[in-house]
Amino acid sequence: METVTAKSNQEAHYSFFQGVERNFDKAAQYTRFEPGILQQIKACNSVYSMKFPVRIGNQIEVIEAYRVQHSHHRLPCKGGIRYSMDVNQDEVMALASLMTYKCALVSVPFGGAKGGIKINPKNYSVGDLEKITRRYASELIKKNFIGPGIDVPAPDYGTGSREMSWIVDTYISMKPGEVDSLGCITGKPVSQGGVRGRTEATGLGIFYGVREMCRVKEDMDALGMTTGIEGKKVIVQGLGNVGYHAAKFFYDNGAIIVGLAEWEGGIYNEKGLDVYKVVEHRKNTGSILGYPGATEFKVSAETMEQPCDILIPAALENVINGSNAGRIKAKIIGEGANGPLTPEADEILAKKGIIVIPDMYLNAGGVTVSYFEWLKNLSHVRFGRMDKRFAENQYGSMLHTFEDMTGKRVTDAERKMLLHGPDEVDLVYSGLEDTMITSYHEIREAFLGLNKAVDMRTAAFTVAINKVGGAYEELGIFP
Ligand code: GLU
Repeated sequence: METVTAKSNQEAHYSFFQGVERNFDKAAQYTRFEPGILQQIKACNSVYSMKFPVRIGNQIEVIEAYRVQHSHHRLPCKGGIRYSMDVNQDEVMALASLMTYKCALVSVPFGGAKGGIKINPKNYSVGDLEKITRRYASELIKKNFIGPGIDVPAPDYGTGSREMSWIVDTYISMKPGEVDSLGCITGKPVSQGGVRGRTEATGLGIFYGVREMCRVKEDMDALGMTTGIEGKKVIVQGLGNVGYHAAKFFYDNGAIIVGLAEWEGGIYNEKGLDVYKVVEHRKNTGSILGYPGATEFKVSAETMEQPCDILIPAALENVINGSNAGRIKAKIIGEGANGPLTPEADEILAKKGIIVIPDMYLNAGGVTVSYFEWLKNLSHVRFGRMDKRFAENQYGSMLHTFEDMTGKRVTDAERKMLLHGPDEVDLVYSGLEDTMITSYHEIREAFLGLNKAVDMRTAAFTVAINKVGGAYEELGIFP
């Protein structure tokens, strides 16, 4: 679960949703659609705001919650559910709209949605959280706001596979006999219809996306950087599910993690931090601070202002804004969270020549693997079940033939590697890697097509708007 708190966007004169609309408008002028279509793409199609009572101890608490379906141009709608005291209708609308563009960008055939419950999950026992979650699920069921072909939630800030398992169980008990009911939600535990690789998917997608950018020599030259991830200095803000896995994949692949930040503070060491040891330290002491040999920042956000090549904000929205963007030293910012940069920050960073890899692309790994989980639920079969053994037999006979022809034998380790047929997790990783690479180049092409006159976010928006607008035209809604 994510744990870094957001800095409010107080300097802005517009809300989070209006910020997304501003970014949309900036890109829309480069597309061919008439104003009516653009307005329809931008608008939130259905907003469900609810209040329900839950008995907590010997008191009744009235819980405020939301589910927003931003776009019905493809069904089901898709997007996580967050538990946070910052939840409000505007935030859920903004996040739902980002889901629409995100799904379009990575060609996941869903409309965007988001849900939220305004609670601090740390203030509740597990039993109380289960009660709140199940009640929220039944509210969604009553109003037809959840279902494998309607709207399919997933984890987000403050929720995880445990909450998803309560929701799917509530769904199955209220809708008995529905053959595809497991597909009503994703991010489930593997034992309850989840898919292997979903937990780390967002963090892994961030890694694949940044790695792809760092592979393009021309772009790296322009930034005065070498190609490849190895040796790059990285700061990750947020050590929740997304940030932790991103940091881990960068670290495992040879990047130097120079800074890590959590809500209680941050640490920095230009020689590098061992991600596993930092997490262990935080588990044992309850804080990231006090880690041996590192410079400490009691104001967590200051960690992001330290020297590095790549900065990954991976917690909540608006953490880089008009007041601190000028102090950022990274050359590349990879948006792991949804909306971590305000439009003011975008302008300041663009002037400084810092490249921002936008959220709607970079953190799309989660929803991409959710799509795979949903496909698994609808097909009622684990990926790899039909073909793993067949592939291994094929590889075995090919290897035999080559060994007979050459008279040479491979080592046992090589044999094991060559004869390995795809498991579910191999296929999920492969599908995710392919998605992140293909989509990166789609955005890059759009960026080049606009003569680099805009930033990558605007380029990504144009790709997304073209796909959603194209889908509306196919539906024939706008003759
Ligand atoms: N909450 C994640 C996101 O913001 C995942 C959504 C999903 O898997 O549906 O992209």
